[in-house]
Amino acid sequence: MNVPPFNSYLGVEVVRLENGEAAATLRLAAHHLNARGVAHGGVISSLLDTVLGGAVISAIPREWWCATTSLSIQYLDGAGEGLLTATGRVIRKGRRIAVAEGEVHDESGRTLAAAQGSWHLWPHHPGRPGRAASAAYVVRAGTGERLRVGKILAVGRNYADHIVEMGNRPEVPPVLFTKPATAIIHDGGEIRIPAEAGEVHHEVELVVLIGKTGRAIHEDEAMNHVLGYAVGLDMTLREVQAEAKRKGEPWALAKGFDSSAPVSTVAPREDVGDGSGLELTLEVNGERRQAANTSQMLHPVPALIAVASRWVTLERGDLLFTGTPAGVGPVKAGDVLVAALEKVGTLRVTVAAD
Ligand code: MG
Repeated sequence: MNVPPFNSYLGVEVVRLENGEAAATLRLAAHHLNARGVAHGGVISSLLDTVLGGAVISAIPREWWCATTSLSIQYLDGAGEGLLTATGRVIRKGRRIAVAEGEVHDESGRTLAAAQGSWHLWPHHPGRPGRAASAAYVVRAGTGERLRVGKILAVGRNYADHIVEMGNRPEVPPVLFTKPATAIIHDGGEIRIPAEAGEVHHEVELVVLIGKTGRAIHEDEAMNHVLGYAVGLDMTLREVQAEAKRKGEPWALAKGFDSSAPVSTVAPREDVGDGSGLELTLEVNGERRQAANTSQMLHPVPALIAVASRWVTLERGDLLFTGTPAGVGPVKAGDVLVAALEKVGTLRVTVAAD
């Protein structure tokens, strides 16, 4: 647990934090004492706030956030020296509130103070910009927790059969491009093809959700930066892209238009593994169009993270689309696309009428 700055300044040290219980210590020094030579009430309350809050933090998912809403303290005795030990435990927890209690003892075992408090719980940090309803996010399977998406990186030409069907040759390192976070839509969403943009192609892909910020990440460390996986569609305006390629111009908008990045809910890495050995499929109107195994990737997930993070810092909440296998093709208004990735789940989106 990160001790809040003021408590850290006081010298509070959290020594245990697990399963709804916490312990913290404070060695009394001159600056903790009042004119009568006993610890200030504020010092004791800070110690209790830390340890009870710590107990709450240890009882909620790692991505959640909590804040003290009440803390009632009974001061029972004073102490002027020695090591104080505080313990706290969660005694009730609901969907949005937790109640914890705890005590402070001195070295002889005397109880100096007892407290009970309540904490409000949020499934995300309330102050982050991603709080706005319009901000791009992904949903974690199971908890329903929303994570704000920062940026989307994507890889081209990562399956040999797709490279062949596009008339290209394998690239080392792989081709990287980006999409804006506003490209994201979710299960049940609609792909909207921009007017007069020509054909839009489906590209079913494994998508990595980054959980830990890093730059120049080594392949051996890459998995520690993965929070989970989704199945996604890298929708591509193929004619716009081909025209841009022909002119030698960037093809960013062919890949980055609104709704060009449908993603499923995110399954945790612990349930999925390193992203290899997973069956990946796409059906359009019930007809199988793409099918592959993620072990066919030319550059597996750890290699992609290593390459991408050489160029841009990967931040928590970033997505990495990992390339599509053969079978890409156009979709039209009214089509229903169902993407599936083994151990991760499915994604169903429709193509909207213009
Ligand atoms: Mg792609």
